[in-house]
Amino acid sequence: MTLKIYNTMSRKVEELIPGGVRKDDVSEYPPVTIYACGPTVYSFAHIGNFRTFMFNDLLRRYLKFSGYKTNHAMNITDVDDKTINGSLRDGVTLKDYTEKYTAIFFEDLKTLNIEPVEHNPKATESIDEMINILKQIDQKGILYSREGSLYFNIAKFPSYGRLSCLESRETKAGARYDADEYDKDDVRDFALWKAPKENEPFWETPYGPGRPGWHIECSAMIRKIFGKTIDIHTGGVDLIFPHHENEIAQSEAAYDEQFVRYWVHVEHLLVDGTKMSKSAGNFYTLRDLIAKGYSPRSIRYLLMSAHYRKQLNFTLDGIKQADQALERIDNLIVRLKDVKKAGEAGAETADMIKKLIADFTETMDNDLNISGGLGVFFDFVTKVNTLIAEDKLTEKDASMFLEAVSRLDSVFGFISFGEEEDVDAERINALVEERIQAKKNKDFRRSDEIRDMLKDEGIILEDTKDGTRWKRKK
Ligand SMILES: [Zn+2]
Repeated sequence: MTLKIYNTMSRKVEELIPGGVRKDDVSEYPPVTIYACGPTVYSFAHIGNFRTFMFNDLLRRYLKFSGYKTNHAMNITDVDDKTINGSLRDGVTLKDYTEKYTAIFFEDLKTLNIEPVEHNPKATESIDEMINILKQIDQKGILYSREGSLYFNIAKFPSYGRLSCLESRETKAGARYDADEYDKDDVRDFALWKAPKENEPFWETPYGPGRPGWHIECSAMIRKIFGKTIDIHTGGVDLIFPHHENEIAQSEAAYDEQFVRYWVHVEHLLVDGTKMSKSAGNFYTLRDLIAKGYSPRSIRYLLMSAHYRKQLNFTLDGIKQADQALERIDNLIVRLKDVKKAGEAGAETADMIKKLIADFTETMDNDLNISGGLGVFFDFVTKVNTLIAEDKLTEKDASMFLEAVSRLDSVFGFISFGEEEDVDAERINALVEERIQAKKNKDFRRSDEIRDMLKDEGIILEDTKDGTRWKRKK
């Protein structure tokens, strides 16, 4: 039972060995060091961004479920062309501008029940570490300067291109280099440090004033936090080249040691089968969807439910299907809570739970196969529903099943156990009681009136053999 994960560098599914030395038991491993390229805080993050952040959350939660410890960083890119242009446009300082969107981003993560990670470094707070990398690269003779900007000399770093298999697609890749920087010795070279332009913020360095290039930010923050080779680096597939390729070049040239053990990349999200774009009218931020009435739980479910190495086709219909999947789970929770039969738990219950956890783990250990993991879970939901329908469970069985579901939800993060006390519970219970009496008295006008009134408030009534249950539509 060990987690295997696809490494973009080797193009193979590999066993995860945190720290690089195999141990007999998961508990003996040092915390898994993870770095995730975070948002550039110039605007609201869109739903495609959140697919990657959702994957990071799934990875983190599954590692913890499996007994690993985590030491996880996700950065905030708070200086680049977009943030600088945004702050100039709005006439505020770069700090004020980026702090606003950073706060919005963290609110969105919370809405989606994405766990906070151990570190959230900001690029602008990591300038010293960037200067350190520049000095190291300079000493190796790989750095050169043109008109106040500093460049990385790729010709002097022979292993450049391993991650993206650059050689095999060098010709077409040429189009993606930064064509604005004509002063470079080689078109492939990338800027480590940029000379200041008028009105732009800048920092002083031994090489003169300027601001960081995007790629060096991540290398610096990783060095600052972890100080050595990290286990997992994640990001969207669009970051493989040039961003991650350049991170490797800088960090390995500067420190002569392996930068990252496992490179893990998340595929694109499509909306309605095509690339999301503002002009196509299929561009959604999280807040757009919530304003349309879609629930964060369903959005979380949908974003998580496809395997990370497959493209995810996001549709509004898909959110509705997620609603239905969640309703099935919600109903199971309510039914399990309703089981009040006395007696001991059956031997079968412990076996079913053992099998659930074993099958889920086996599936997820195979490159975080979440769609398979959800399949295992829904088979279990069906079986438990049958046992409830056949009146075969005692209250003790039910509470063991609830506990098992809650254990899996430490990974899913989308199940509602209905613990939140409803502030209106007393009034709703009274109305439900009044409706029962009205029905008994054959006052169907009143009973329908109450049902419709509650329905307008988003409260659904279910008549069962044990009486009437109500729940809020989520
Ligand atoms: Zn990055």
